[in-house]
Amino acid sequence: VEGHLAQIDTIEPIVRALLLRTDAHARAQAAELDHRRRPAGLLAGVPVVLKDAFVTKGIATTANSRVLAGWIPPYDGTHAARLADAGAVLVGKAAMDEFAMGSSSENVPGDPVHNPWAPDRVAGGSSGGTAAAVAAGMVPLGLGTDTGGSIRQPAAMCGVVGLKPSYGRVSRFGMIAFGSSLDQAGTIARNVRDAALGLSVIAGHDPLDPTSIAAPPGDLLGACERSCAGMRVGVHRRALELPGLDPEVHAAFAASLEVLRDCGMTLVDIELPHFELAIATYYVICAAEAASNLARYDGVRYGRRVPAEDLARTIEASRSAGFGAEVKRRILLGTFVLRKDGYDAYYGRAQRVRTAIARDYDDAFACCDVIATPTSPVPAFRIGERAADPLAMYLSDVFTVGANLAGLPGISIPAGFTAATTGRPRLPIGLQLLGPHLGEAALLTAAAGHEAATAWHRERPPIFAVTLEAPGAPP
Ligand code: GLN
Repeated sequence: VEGHLAQIDTIEPIVRALLLRTDAHARAQAAELDHRRRPAGLLAGVPVVLKDAFVTKGIATTANSRVLAGWIPPYDGTHAARLADAGAVLVGKAAMDEFAMGSSSENVPGDPVHNPWAPDRVAGGSSGGTAAAVAAGMVPLGLGTDTGGSIRQPAAMCGVVGLKPSYGRVSRFGMIAFGSSLDQAGTIARNVRDAALGLSVIAGHDPLDPTSIAAPPGDLLGACERSCAGMRVGVHRRALELPGLDPEVHAAFAASLEVLRDCGMTLVDIELPHFELAIATYYVICAAEAASNLARYDGVRYGRRVPAEDLARTIEASRSAGFGAEVKRRILLGTFVLRKDGYDAYYGRAQRVRTAIARDYDDAFACCDVIATPTSPVPAFRIGERAADPLAMYLSDVFTVGANLAGLPGISIPAGFTAATTGRPRLPIGLQLLGPHLGEAALLTAAAGHEAATAWHRERPPIFAVTLEAPGAPP
């Protein structure tokens, strides 16, 4: 723990991955383990960060929103509780896009997160703080949330592993809601096994969340050891004709398919007929759910109050001051698609397309075990480069939102780098694998197979090494 706190001292001023450091809390947790006041759990002594969307007892939790500034939760969410029971040591709350709305960790009231590979670039989002902290060696493991790609996409941009489980695999109790039918908690780590280990700690039924699934997660670590030979990998060729797909991302993806084939997997072509509709469908549904979920922050029931002369004006002033521009945009969009005479044309239709998209995946998984795609169509872009164009930002979720609409598990693993020639630095590229609902085991087997055959996950950004020589520094 001391080694990692030293690493954080050095690196955090460059990366800005944390909204809050919890050094004292971490040292107390570590001391408790040292004195063996508790039986050693699966993560005994492992330093972790939690995205600030996870509720932590006695530790400020804001979802990076001014509206929650000053809130000290009186309880732990299931994620914080299960990590602590397993012996994990919380060293900080990780930065994120406000209420997890974004793809770059730039929708923030304060500093954006900087990519450890190139600090003038974004870390991805919305779990950019967790991904950057893991990539920079500040912690070996962290939790993020994924509503439309927010674990997988920052993992890809930071060169680490991001695992989004099936909807219902992990409790949502104590995870600040964005789109309730899409949100899932998951892990970010530097290899597939660590991501699986973290998931095995937080997964499983939770009586406090009625959408959590009773089926046990199974032997996730065992799944990482199993041979992937003979597995079938579905490839949706048409998706690769996407105009915004970066050529270097395309090339890395093609190379990954060769790796999978060399591991003994078979490539099969699949069709996802409604693929092009996923982004529009996602942004209607997530905005509708966000507008509903965020209605509670009115300065009266929840959230920081900005007093005004009467109730209506107090609510207006509190919400105006409390929310940032992107959150307001989603609330307006969500309210629009839910209004009486728009409901059928937008929200109702989006729900029907969602069903069609889920059926496409069911059909595809009839002839393959996992589906491979790039994670993000582009590597990490420059801070500010896309901030003025929300539509361009939304399009960067094209490969990830389908899994959330259909409730499927997905993982992003390191799969190459851009060449440091064409005016941009060497930047990580991710490979996404999707599995059928509750098919985490197959997903992990395929991902671990690719990882074992490549060395991308062993690469570290130059700043990682800063304190490596210090006694007790992280491996
Ligand atoms: N980028 C997507 C959005 O802004 C996904 C975010 C997420 O997964 N939390 O909605």
